[in-house]
Order: sequence, then structure tokens, then C-alpha cells
Amino acid sequence: MPEQKSLKAILFDLDDTLIDWGNVTQDWLAFENGFLGRVQIFIESQGYTLPFEPFADAFRTSNQLAWETGRRNFVAPHMGRLLVEAAETIGIPPGKLDATACLRAADRGIIEGTVAFPDAARVLGEIRAAGVRTAIVTNAPQPMWLRDYEMEYHGLMPYFPDCRLSAADVGYLKPHPAIFETALRCLGVKADEAVFVGDSLSADVVGAQGVGLAAVWHKPRPGESLLDGLVTPDATVTTLADLPAALDALFPNWRS
Ligand SMILES: [Mg+2]
Repeated sequence: MPEQKSLKAILFDLDDTLIDWGNVTQDWLAFENGFLGRVQIFIESQGYTLPFEPFADAFRTSNQLAWETGRRNFVAPHMGRLLVEAAETIGIPPGKLDATACLRAADRGIIEGTVAFPDAARVLGEIRAAGVRTAIVTNAPQPMWLRDYEMEYHGLMPYFPDCRLSAADVGYLKPHPAIFETALRCLGVKADEAVFVGDSLSADVVGAQGVGLAAVWHKPRPGESLLDGLVTPDATVTTLADLPAALDALFPNWRS
């Protein structure tokens, strides 16, 4: 009888996997103008003149270009560097602004209407209690310290003490192997000892399976995906409450 593999770690996507964005009430333009305005005030406090509209336009142009490029080569956009680039595009001397200070000034805060999925804390507690390690692997363009505020707010931080990675930190977007491999190294586990849970077939499921991880597709809302039928997750759950049972099928001894 083949030796039973043991489950050592579960890697989670963040947005729409643990945090539900399905009922966001935030006016996105107002939100973006809010943080860009705070960055503008910060940069002007350094003794520069930075008119708001050209700065906001330059940021939106840089941001859009970075995501278009990132979708082709998987190089991750970095919001701090995009803020600096936008300011430099409209005349701030190169090399004078600090990306981290600009992100602090942005004070991005919590997106109105986001909530943790109702079963997230309970299921994460169950997983941790079984001795399984956990990691966050998100395609966020913000460094993880900025997303940590949201994880705290949503009560998720206690379940991820070891390893939280954003694409901005690693430099690559899922499905690029680098971000998954960085997470496995961070936890000290091999791909066949771990599972990835995420809501995106193209980023999470394809990327995780590409490096040899079993991939659970968390599909919180009905609807078609372009990749339906082309990608086969190792398991599919519509609620996190079903994740423990899905793990039973993949790693029968994971609870012991
Ligand atoms: Mg997601």
C-alpha cells in the first residue's frame, strides 16, 4: 500500500477566497481620489508642487499599463512605485520620493462592504488546530503590510502568523511559479505536502497545479468562468464550510 502523504500546509488566496468582495458598496472613483489626494498632500508637504488632476491621471495611466503588462509577463504592479512614477511623470525630480512613505500617506484603509466569509475564522481555526500551517498568497499590488490592516480588521491575522505574501513583495503575479515557490519556501514544505485554495481558475488553480500543488477552487458565487471545462481543480467548494470535507478526499489523514 502506498505511503499516505501528510498535509503540512494550506496556502490561501485572499480576495474573494477569504474576504468577500461580493457586496462592496464603495464608490471606487471616490476611494481612489481619496487616497491619491492624501498622497498629493504628502508630496506637497515635501516642498513640491503637484497638481491633483494631472497626478491622478498619470497614476491611472501608469496603473493601467502596469496591469496590461503584468497580464502578459506576470511582473507584478507595485502601487508604491506607481505613485512615485506618476509624480515623476508630471515633474517631480526622479529619485526624490520614497514609495513606502507614499503608501503610508495613502492610508488606504478598508474597502466599504468587504467582509470575511462567514465560515473563514472557524475553518481556519480547525485547520490550524490540526497542526497544518497556513499562508496567504495574494495578487495584491500593495506590499503585504498594507493588506495586513485589512486582515486584522476582518479577524484573519491570528490564523496566518507565519507567511503572508503579496505579488508586490515577490515581484510576480500568480499564476507565475515564483510566487507559489516563495510561499512553499517560506513555510518549509514541499508542493505535494500542501494545498492551494483560491477563487480564480486562471491565477490560483492553474498556477498552483503548475508547481505541483493540489488546488481547491473556492467558487463563492455562481457564474461562468472562461476556463470552465478547460481547467480541472482537484476539488471545488462553494463555501469555506465545505473545505474540511474536500481536504478529507485529498489528504484522508489530515485531521490526525
Ligand atoms: Mg481572489
